[in-house]
Amino acid sequence: MAGIRIHILRCGSIEPAREAVFGGGSGPGAALRHAAAAAAGRIELPCMCYLIEHPKGLVLVDTGVGRVFSPSGSFDAAASRALIGAPMTAYLRPSVAEGQSISERLSAMGLSPADIDILLLSHLDADHIGGLHELRGVKRILLPEDEYYWSCRMVYKLRQPAALWSDMPIERFWYRGSPLGSNRWASDLFADESVMLINLPGHTDGLCATLIRNGGRFVLLASDAALCRENIDSLTPPGFCFDKGMGRKSLEYIRSLRAESGCEAVLISHDREERRDTLLL
Ligand SMILES: [Zn+2]
Repeated sequence: MAGIRIHILRCGSIEPAREAVFGGGSGPGAALRHAAAAAAGRIELPCMCYLIEHPKGLVLVDTGVGRVFSPSGSFDAAASRALIGAPMTAYLRPSVAEGQSISERLSAMGLSPADIDILLLSHLDADHIGGLHELRGVKRILLPEDEYYWSCRMVYKLRQPAALWSDMPIERFWYRGSPLGSNRWASDLFADESVMLINLPGHTDGLCATLIRNGGRFVLLASDAALCRENIDSLTPPGFCFDKGMGRKSLEYIRSLRAESGCEAVLISHDREERRDTLLL
């Protein structure tokens, strides 16, 4: 297959509690503590989207923090609270600098939403779908059925307010039994095994990672199965994890893929150490 180019697009940032990123605590008590963390106890993380130039189409993964969260380009508590409420605003402190929202990034590349063949939503958390309304006109929007199904949970209603996504024409797809993934569930996007959508549950139930393969080499877009490389190295799920047991299994799976000789890269959505802008597979 001709080369597959992957663009890493930084679309805003979040500033959660350092303790939450590196694994400290989960559940309502920890969430309240993390939301109340002082500035010195927080860490700024980028929110990455990926544009995949595949011979069968242009695929975008996630939408980052939308301009609507951050009209002036800096953290705007009032704008964010109107979208995701006060607790999640305090937890995430989302912002997106001028020129960095997903539609602004695409426009700078000479692209409009209508040029995108498939928009894949790795999961429904606000920092991944915040720019969704900027992308009206994309040809298809895909979401795992399991992510949609479990969006009824109260914790997800807080993390993923339906107003951010429910009015968009989202197609849901099923994972099927597969040798891939910590849950042994995956879906073959182009029916040629070149782009496999893999369930790595833990952070959310339906979380979708993307495995892009070409000629024996591969790149894994791990979404939020980890929030930093240390999570993978130490098999410590971050505090954002809905189910720590599943989260640890998913980290074990990522670590096993990372050790394979064909592994070109494991990219995680909030990796503050990532310096690359493009990868060619
Ligand atoms: Zn995230």
